[in-house]
Amino acid sequence: MDYQVNRKGYYGEFGGAYIPEMMVPNIEELEARYMEIMHSYDFKQEFVSLLKNYVGRPSPLYFAKRLSEKYQSNIFLKREDLNHTGSHKINNTIGQILVAKKLGKTRIIAETGAGQHGLATATVCALMGLKCIVYMGAVDVERQAPNVKKMRMLGAEVISAVSGNQTLKDATNEAMRDWINNPVDTYYIIGSVVGPHPYPDMVARFQSVISEEMRWQLEEQVGRENPDRIIACVGGGSNAAGAFYHYLDQENVELIGVEAAGKGVDTNETAATITLGTPGVLHSSRSILMQTDDGQITEPYSISAGLDYPGIGPLHAHLFKTGRAKYLWATDAEVLDSALELTQMEGIIPALESAHALAVLPKIKLRPEEITVINLSGRGDKDMETYLKHFGY
Ligand SMILES: *Cc1c(COP(=O)(O)O)cnc(C)c1O
Repeated sequence: MDYQVNRKGYYGEFGGAYIPEMMVPNIEELEARYMEIMHSYDFKQEFVSLLKNYVGRPSPLYFAKRLSEKYQSNIFLKREDLNHTGSHKINNTIGQILVAKKLGKTRIIAETGAGQHGLATATVCALMGLKCIVYMGAVDVERQAPNVKKMRMLGAEVISAVSGNQTLKDATNEAMRDWINNPVDTYYIIGSVVGPHPYPDMVARFQSVISEEMRWQLEEQVGRENPDRIIACVGGGSNAAGAFYHYLDQENVELIGVEAAGKGVDTNETAATITLGTPGVLHSSRSILMQTDDGQITEPYSISAGLDYPGIGPLHAHLFKTGRAKYLWATDAEVLDSALELTQMEGIIPALESAHALAVLPKIKLRPEEITVINLSGRGDKDMETYLKHFGY
């Protein structure tokens, strides 16, 4: 089985570039150059050096002793929460800003929902001295105020998208419109393994540093490169893609993605795309999405703003379709329980998104000799208000 993108930009039946005529030049330029840039000596040097000295990589692979005792197995946490800016998102924004510079672009745009990708983009723009414009739905600007303030302090211009539901989907539409109007000097940094080819492949490659490190870290700590299973939460699917990447061909490594079920998969307040979705086109690629019978996108809901997305990257649609990966879900209530469990058993406050990956531990069979790696995609600082509200401290 082949799990990599083909020459036309497809993973099986999913992927492609369903873009308006006016975006074709931008995408063609990127498609023609991205592999050559990523494989160049200069690029690799700078990317590796920034990941090490700026982001703080390698991120630790931590054996969670008390959690392992509780679940009577061996559980490791890949600590993406310890990265600069608090999540895996920075791996991708560092990679893409270097691509933008090689393409000679001077103006960067991005879309953001919860603000984590906007923050990681504003950060690398400050680092490189490039102009940064972040599109964000007006509703999100309101409810993610701390991240908006950080982006502004970093020098980014945050523009409220006031169309539609005024959330991520609308911010994405505005960013695409901007790119069409400014094709020469502008580069669009997409924050997950979504969007038109070549973005899903490029973002997966930047995030693949996660599983690249896991291999030698496991070899060093337990004497073998392969765990028995890897678990990661899935919004668009970039942290999961990075954690799975170097194990895609190792069929004896079980891969599990966890979606946000919100209030439950049998309610209208959910974001469990693979569980509930059907094939269709969203944000320029064919994948699985949550839609009504007549093709209207369903509004997603999750306690975690980072997983509140009605689509999923085409790689994951393909991994699901072929059976290579399994997709489970966790509800808001289950996620709050596991976030508190990790906090009080290991002294690590996880992001709400990452707590979804932890929340399936009680639902799967773990054998005593097995090794499970959970990708801890981010830290919980940004979610303190939600935690405090629910736990009442
Ligand atoms: C954005 C985000 C996610 C979801 O995005 P993916 O592309 O699915 O990884 C997960 N965890 C954290 C901490 C995030 O910030």
